[in-house]
Amino acid sequence: MNNKRKPFVAGNWKMNGNRSLVESFVASLDSDVAQHVDVVICPPAVLLSSFNSASFSLGAQDVSAQDNGAHTGDMSVDMFKEAGCEYIIVGHSERREDHGESNALIADKAKKVLAGKLTPIVCVGEPLSVREAGNVESYIAEQLDALITALSVDELAKCVIAYEPIWAIGTGKTASPEQAQDVHRFIREYFAKVDEALANGLRILYGGSVKPDNAKTLFAQADVDGGLIGGASLKVEDFISICQAA
Ligand code: PGA
Repeated sequence: MNNKRKPFVAGNWKMNGNRSLVESFVASLDSDVAQHVDVVICPPAVLLSSFNSASFSLGAQDVSAQDNGAHTGDMSVDMFKEAGCEYIIVGHSERREDHGESNALIADKAKKVLAGKLTPIVCVGEPLSVREAGNVESYIAEQLDALITALSVDELAKCVIAYEPIWAIGTGKTASPEQAQDVHRFIREYFAKVDEALANGLRILYGGSVKPDNAKTLFAQADVDGGLIGGASLKVEDFISICQAA
């Protein structure tokens, strides 16, 4: 981790959690944890209004690329803003897979989030077949190209990027610190071709089976600025120790 970039840890609850989990987080996750690290919880949208804590920020797990209107079941940037969100995850691999979301749609969503003055956490990452074929960099480059084409340098500088190898998500198979660092370095160098200062300031999170016992070595890598945490963000003690490792 580079100490010029503030560490960042986001918990993605996915389709999990309830009010009693919210209460345990609000009671236990105090500002001592959040002092040196930006801490964000992304619960299911229906739980957002149950949070009332100044110790961490709230995020949404996805958003529509449309303005308010006739889009049944969708939610807009304006709605999440009013619900107290500062961040919105876009392009999570589960959205890409379950809902067929394309790189272009994800770039549109990121642009919409930025237009609403919130921060997009843009996820990229390869499936196992791509890694085994040795094509990780070209696969990630294609995901980043859509973003780089759609956003200005100023807009890109306001994004957070999350590298989440699909084979490591929810599988217990974490990328080794070296594997994570190789891709994080590649991502930073890719952005450096657009603008050096943008690349140096960009926070790049690692996601995929981050746990209290592997967080420290992952976060110690030069280009890993924190994590996007799924399963381990559902246990407040685990999540706190991951935040403390950042
Ligand atoms: P995991 O999920 O930590 O459960 O692997 C990470 C994510 O999907 O963001």
